[in-house]
Amino acid sequence: MGFSSALQSRAAHEALIVRQDAELRLMETMKRSIQMKAKCDKEYAISLTAVAQQGLKIDRADEMQGSLISKSWRSYMDELDHQAKQFKFNAEQLEVVCDKFTHLSQDKRKARKAYQEEHAKIAARLNHLTDEVVRKKSEYQKHLEGYKALRTRFEENYIKAPSRSGRKLDDVRDKYQKACRKLHLTHNEYVLSITEAIEVEKDFRNVLLPGLLEHQQSVQESFILLWRNILQEAAQYGDLTADKYKEIQKRIDTVIGNINPTEEYGEFTEKYKTSPTTPLLFQFDETLIQDIPGKLQSSTLTVDNLTVDWLRNRLQELEGAVRDCQEKQLKMIEHVNGGSPVANGSIISNGSNTSNGIQSNKDSLCRQSKDLNALRCQEKQKQKLVDMIKCALNEVGCEELPSGCDDDLTLEQNFIENGYNNEQQISLSTNRPLYEEEWFHGVLPREEVVRLLNNDGDFLVRETIRNEESQIVLSVCWNGHKHFIVQTTGEGNFRFEGPPFASIQELIMHQYHSELPVTVKSGAILRRPVCRERWELSNDDVVLLERIGRGNFGDVYKAKLKSTKLDVAVKTCRMTLPDEQKRKFLQEGRILKQYDHPNIVKLIGICVQKQPIMIVMELVLGGSLLTYLRKNSNGLTTRQQMGMCRDAAAGMRYLESKNCIHRDLAARNCLVDLEHSVKISDFGMSREEEEYIVSDGMKQIPVKWTAPEALNFGKYTSLCDVWSYGILMWEIFSKGDTPYSGMTNSRARERIDTGYRMPTPKSTPEEMYRLMLQCWAADAESRPHFDEIYNVVDALILRLDNSH
Ligand code: ADP
Repeated sequence: MGFSSALQSRAAHEALIVRQDAELRLMETMKRSIQMKAKCDKEYAISLTAVAQQGLKIDRADEMQGSLISKSWRSYMDELDHQAKQFKFNAEQLEVVCDKFTHLSQDKRKARKAYQEEHAKIAARLNHLTDEVVRKKSEYQKHLEGYKALRTRFEENYIKAPSRSGRKLDDVRDKYQKACRKLHLTHNEYVLSITEAIEVEKDFRNVLLPGLLEHQQSVQESFILLWRNILQEAAQYGDLTADKYKEIQKRIDTVIGNINPTEEYGEFTEKYKTSPTTPLLFQFDETLIQDIPGKLQSSTLTVDNLTVDWLRNRLQELEGAVRDCQEKQLKMIEHVNGGSPVANGSIISNGSNTSNGIQSNKDSLCRQSKDLNALRCQEKQKQKLVDMIKCALNEVGCEELPSGCDDDLTLEQNFIENGYNNEQQISLSTNRPLYEEEWFHGVLPREEVVRLLNNDGDFLVRETIRNEESQIVLSVCWNGHKHFIVQTTGEGNFRFEGPPFASIQELIMHQYHSELPVTVKSGAILRRPVCRERWELSNDDVVLLERIGRGNFGDVYKAKLKSTKLDVAVKTCRMTLPDEQKRKFLQEGRILKQYDHPNIVKLIGICVQKQPIMIVMELVLGGSLLTYLRKNSNGLTTRQQMGMCRDAAAGMRYLESKNCIHRDLAARNCLVDLEHSVKISDFGMSREEEEYIVSDGMKQIPVKWTAPEALNFGKYTSLCDVWSYGILMWEIFSKGDTPYSGMTNSRARERIDTGYRMPTPKSTPEEMYRLMLQCWAADAESRPHFDEIYNVVDALILRLDNSH
């Protein structure tokens, strides 16, 4: 069934037009899609070209000459480039296809227009005739009515007229005849127009419309044919299985197939064929240690107190590593010999993992032997380091480990200044206990020891605690400072490198008299024993009586010195504290021994012969000033309070003159004797410097006593002590109140920074409060020095005394 018979109706005609519009839109969509595809393909081609170019940026240097893998790769990339070109060509062809779509759609539009015009034309003739028939019919009706009326009139006149003549009758007859004529003409015209219409309609239906539709069908079908051709073309340019691509793929497969592992390195090995390499030389650069003669030696491990622990740890680590290597080797050998597979799986690869089982087994064996070799080498290398460290540690032998720091650079004053016995001629006896020997210094810290030994041959004996074990050490000045640990033999005798002796005293005497070096390596000879200073008291001379306080490092006791029967105060240092803390504990003694002032607590000595180490001081009977103020708050007079301030100022004036910054001046750190006289104490934080900058954090800072610049910048001067002195005055006048009470440290700090100062305590003389405020000047330089403070307080007391 074709268009000509099936699509004659008006509705079909309109549907045909709509269909053509839809086809044009479809065509437009296809064109756009193919345009996009062409664009994509072009871009892909560009990217592929870039891939190929990137792939060709390979090392063309001589080393790769003759490499099949490199050659294959180049060919592979060339083929990719061909592929890219092919893609580009196809994309361009697709663009041509798009142009064809454009033409086709133009033609289709034209055909649609022609069909519409032709259809309208033939339909217009039929419509026109139809209208004519209607018009003619209505004319007919109109004339018929006119005719009928005139005929009736004529008949009436005719019947009425007696003579059948007369003017009127003639007139009516005339009109009747005219109407009759007109009716007949109209009738004829109507008949003709109907006849014509019938003919035209018949032709329209049977000839013209079918002809038009038939033509239309053939036109549309020819368009579809063209359309199909265009689509076929488009598909063809996107066909990746096309022969051209297949050929390229085939060539790629061939070039990759050309890679041959056994031939790969033929040319290379031929070209670089050489005899085995000469070994590399690693040498210690001597210039590194030019400026530090003696301390560090080229290619030799340095064993000293700074490195020994590290070396021992390293030794342990390395020995562990050696064992590890050995165990791994053992497991691997077991496996190769058919034992169980190696646990970590790194050595064995299971054949089933790979496509080529034989190759995999071969690889696996090859890898195992390689891994075994690597482990053997590792073991050897580590063993070498183990031997080296062991040897170095053994070589130190009985020598106590040298100090890693340069002792001679220490500038601090030392105990020796006040010593009186360095020039004394000492006889070495053997019949008293070691700790009674004058040259036995007990647990005197090493820092102190090296200060005592100044000339080659100076020596002393001391005790050291290492890993909770006591060791006796002979310290000698000989090209620096050497420390030898006295060795104990199985029979309980004592020796260095030479013969053993029943007692340490005998051993030392032997070394002293024989003038033989303590060890061959050191060459150190004992020439002059250095005896204990007067500060170094014997622990046994101190009898602890009762506990009178508790300090940071240990308890404080009232004690008696056996030798002099003197009552003293003794600060003890807990034995369990680490060496570093013990050194800090002795710091107070080291500072105090230089001072002699009625308002500074006096040092009598230190006991370091054995544990616990102790600091012996004058006993100040009233104890801590703070406790005293609190206990005696009712009985204290203003005069006494002012006296206490003057005493403290006197002590601080003395310290300032000695460049000592106390850093912890407070009522709790002052002592008071029975005459209300105040003595500055607790020098644990003090420093002998004009300015002291704290850099290691401020964990235990007495915030409420400390000047703002010290809190904010860690900068300490005597003017900081002046600020603290102001707080001490406040404590004295408030009879032991807590400063800034009700405020936390940080709150107090904040408020001081914004200008707040504590109000005057009740019944404080105005001038004394003014002095406090001066001590609390934000600008340190505006504060009075202790000299001035002392004078002001002294003058005020004088005035007060005079007024009574
Ligand atoms: P630390 O410096 O270890 O904190 P202190 O110097 O504060 O120790 O001493 C703790 C307490 O021992 C003091 O508050 C005081 O009561 C008492 N004390 C310390 N030294 C003496 C002394 N020389 N005379 C009398 N009592 C003392």
